[in-house]
Amino acid sequence: MRYRVPVLLHTPAYSQVALALSYLSPTLLAPGTLVRVPLGQRELMGVVWDTPPDPGDSRAASAAPLDPAKLRPIAAVLDGVPPLSANWRKLIDFAAAYYQRAAGEVALAALPPQLRDLSTVQLARRLKRAKTQVQATRNGQAERPQGLIQAAQPLPIFIATSPEQTSAIDQFHANSGPFLLFGATGSGKTEVYMRCTADLLATQGTAQALVMVPEINLTPQLEARFKARFGAQYGEDAVVSLHSGMTPAQRLKSWLAAHSGVARIVLGTRMSVFASMPQLQLIIVDEEHDPSYKSHEGARYSARDLAIYRGRLEGAKVMLGSATPSLESWYHSRPQSEGGRYQRLHMPSRIGGTATQAQDTAALISATLPQVRRVDMNHQPKGCVISPPLLDAIVQRVTRGEQSMVFLNRRGYAPVLSCGDCDWKSSCPHCSAYRVFHKIDRTLRCHHCGFTERVPRACPDCGNLDIAPLGRGTERLEELLAALLADSPRPDGRPVNIVRIDADTTRFKGALESQLAQVHAGEVDVLVGTQMIAKGHDFRRITLVAALNPDNALFSSDFRAPERLFGLLMQAAGRAGRDASQSGHSEMWLQTFHPTHPLFEALKHHDYPAFAESQLHERQQAGMPPFSFQALVRAEARTQEAAQAFLNLARQAAGTLAQAATMLEHITLYPAVPMGIQRVANIERSQMLIESASRLALQRFLSVWQALLHSHRSLPECRGLLRWAIDVDPLLI
Ligand code: ADP
Ligand code: ZN
Ligand code: ZN
Repeated sequence: MRYRVPVLLHTPAYSQVALALSYLSPTLLAPGTLVRVPLGQRELMGVVWDTPPDPGDSRAASAAPLDPAKLRPIAAVLDGVPPLSANWRKLIDFAAAYYQRAAGEVALAALPPQLRDLSTVQLARRLKRAKTQVQATRNGQAERPQGLIQAAQPLPIFIATSPEQTSAIDQFHANSGPFLLFGATGSGKTEVYMRCTADLLATQGTAQALVMVPEINLTPQLEARFKARFGAQYGEDAVVSLHSGMTPAQRLKSWLAAHSGVARIVLGTRMSVFASMPQLQLIIVDEEHDPSYKSHEGARYSARDLAIYRGRLEGAKVMLGSATPSLESWYHSRPQSEGGRYQRLHMPSRIGGTATQAQDTAALISATLPQVRRVDMNHQPKGCVISPPLLDAIVQRVTRGEQSMVFLNRRGYAPVLSCGDCDWKSSCPHCSAYRVFHKIDRTLRCHHCGFTERVPRACPDCGNLDIAPLGRGTERLEELLAALLADSPRPDGRPVNIVRIDADTTRFKGALESQLAQVHAGEVDVLVGTQMIAKGHDFRRITLVAALNPDNALFSSDFRAPERLFGLLMQAAGRAGRDASQSGHSEMWLQTFHPTHPLFEALKHHDYPAFAESQLHERQQAGMPPFSFQALVRAEARTQEAAQAFLNLARQAAGTLAQAATMLEHITLYPAVPMGIQRVANIERSQMLIESASRLALQRFLSVWQALLHSHRSLPECRGLLRWAIDVDPLLI
């Protein structure tokens, strides 16, 4: 007896095949079983799926039912690895349908690449090793004297929780969620995550928790804290990481540990939302507002949104946490009586402030968070980069031995080089963008395609020797600060030490860590950098944070720009005065031409709720998310005409779709437009926005309209089209 088994595969040639392909097997295989199967000349990894085989399986031509004689047998069954769970398969099916991709692509991208390369025997051996290792660690830990383990911890294991933390934890236990932990920077959210995790592991013998962070490389602190807290009790292997920065071997090891249930806690970036965790009971999404949770290739999924879905699917509690939640999550956590679906847990006070006893929340916040000072640039010397009052404040810090952090969202020396005699500017020949001047190696570098050249000695167009940098990046800012602070010695008499942290200075492995170590050691007086420095790091001695040019985002065409700016500035403010003894005089400085802008008003009062309310009001008026749902189709082609023709023809043809007729009443399809930077590496890019007040209508429309997009590829008007992709719930418009 031979069984016909549906197998989910990913292969670009079959990317239109959304469903599984049929193979033969001598035994019945449970859905979720990992297999290897032949396809053409190749052998691919696949997963036995639940769905009936694809009726449109192109190999079957029109001969339905499929001729069993034409089916090929499964090449190998990875039976050493337990099958992937039904919930995992549902998660994949949901993500694929929602984000308009093939399930095979989503499933195979979620599995560690090394699974493909190892034999069944090798895999079984690794799985066994993972299991015995954890056994050994557990036994070993138990025999060690307790005192030694405690001494090795960087943090005391048992600290008393603050009243706000206690209340958040109690509410977490008493309700089913999902929860939005709205806690100021430094309010001790991580401690709440760890308590909730600890309580779960202690009460449920096999339960697993998934803790997601936006960028694991920026938060080794978190990993250290979780390992310190849980390693001793549950074994070092009970806490594993899962992110794309790991080697294939490490990733496989973590994945097997999670899949076999050996790992009780998985710390990971967005990809970890797909980790196979058969006993998953808790999902935490830290800094849930962070755009890194949205994937920008393959399936453009939001790991935060999938976490909510997965929690419901698995019956696991979900906690999102942020000091500046996404407006979507904020809106979902409005009172239940107004239709809110998430439960908001509020922790307004910083740990260590006089905070916890205070009655008046507003007074309390302003006492512990830095004071916000706006410098009206309309009244400062024309063209000045660092206004005199800000410079004065930085000098004061230096002479007192305190640290300042100055940020500017532009790396390099100057964003463009230009000739004073003719019109020449340092444009990139391959992109519709300027190349940035990097003084350190005297290059012009395109930040979009990477094209790099030495700076010309004279203007390439007219020979003028006097070509000059326009504008300013972090490299030039560092130079300027060094000059301005040259005569302001530190209390120990040594010259001021300025360090720059951005994508250029941290390109080499370990560079970021060593720079951060310098900051922590107090050797750095002024830290200059891009938004990279505003995120997450716990700098204790910083008492001044300055944003030099935050205005751009106020008038951006992207409706989410103010939300991102506010979040960034709140995060940056959160860097100042973390040390309670210094929080009294810590300040956040903003240089702006619009000092009375409501965004800065709200920031001054550290009032995220007020900011969120005004933004939500605007979005409601304008019918923007979260009051509507969006998708973008992006097309890339040799010419802008082809890219736009592809999108516009598909738009016009939407009306001819019989299934779409009633849906179209609820859908707006906007005409195709060139993307903000329309040409990158000689490829023209265009996009089309699709909007609907109904998520379901948008979903249904996209899934029928997709077929049309696939068929339009081959139209003569679209010659030169290279690729296209749908982005559901896009973050950047
Ligand atoms: P958040 O993640 O909300 O910014 P953290 O969890 O990093 O805040 O906490 C800020 C600091 O306060 C950390 O150094 C942490 O160890 C400390 N902390 C947290 N909770 C407590 C507590 N209950 N008692 C004392 N210190 C605490
Ligand atoms: Zn010139
Ligand atoms: Zn370029």
